[in-house]
Amino acid sequence: MNRIVYVNGVYLPESEAKVSIFDRGFLMADGVYEVTSVLGGKLIDFDGHAFRLRRSLTELEMASPISKNVLLEVHRELVRLNEIDEGMIYLQITRGAPNDRDFVFPDPQKTPSTIVLFTQNKPGLANNPAAKKGIKVISIEDIRWGRRDIKTVQLLYPSMGKMMAKKAGVDDAWMVQDGFVTEGTSNNAYIVKGNKIITRAKSNDILHGITRAAVLRFAEEAQMEIEERNFSIEEAREADEAFITSASTFVMPVVEIDGVMLGDGSPGNVAPRLREIYIDESRKIAI
Ligand code: PMP
Repeated sequence: MNRIVYVNGVYLPESEAKVSIFDRGFLMADGVYEVTSVLGGKLIDFDGHAFRLRRSLTELEMASPISKNVLLEVHRELVRLNEIDEGMIYLQITRGAPNDRDFVFPDPQKTPSTIVLFTQNKPGLANNPAAKKGIKVISIEDIRWGRRDIKTVQLLYPSMGKMMAKKAGVDDAWMVQDGFVTEGTSNNAYIVKGNKIITRAKSNDILHGITRAAVLRFAEEAQMEIEERNFSIEEAREADEAFITSASTFVMPVVEIDGVMLGDGSPGNVAPRLREIYIDESRKIAI
């Protein structure tokens, strides 16, 4: 594969793309990111991702190297150059590359941020066969830092969580703090009881998912009841259904938690319906 990627204002083949060894993203995970999905060659929830990116940068006192309009142009140009019909655009901004390693933030006037974007081609993203079967999760302790609302590139623990899931023969891990589920390793977590969707309220404990916001809006429009509150693994194991949301999985049913099957172990009604609504409605407003 030789993708065309974007580095600091330049489009170039991935094999020629380079970032300094002093980049603070590399040395200190001092960077933020976004993942925007592409369906039918168009961007899903672009405004939401651009808004959250701005918020992450502000919270970390990091300068924004790009305006929203230019960001949109770059996303579209990468979709065009790499002929993406279904897939994702990954975007990362770091605090740049000073001339040496230092804990203190560099002066943004002297050290511009580093911006990198690349595409991930995923034909069949919308028709993902996993959505028909649902996924299995285990629970693990949430030992991440206290600002999970900022989308930083410090993904070591989520990555370890995925490995714990893989070793346990399942698909993902739900993280638990003080007895309550925070979120999945790379997604927001929900349970369903009757017509009610239960998900943890937004706070610094979880990432404010862009897909979460859209799915809750569509659920409300479809007259479903929403309760934003904490839930435990015990409550989840007795729920009628469970699911996750993220930009790359949309809505994905969860059919097993810590080895306990939910209902009859198949996806149920609510999650598949929400998935369909989310994909259909998002396609209509994709840009
Ligand atoms: N929580 C975490 C920890 C995540 O990494 C992600 C996806 N990056 C999400 C939730 C879902 O967010 P979104 O719907 O914006 O992809």
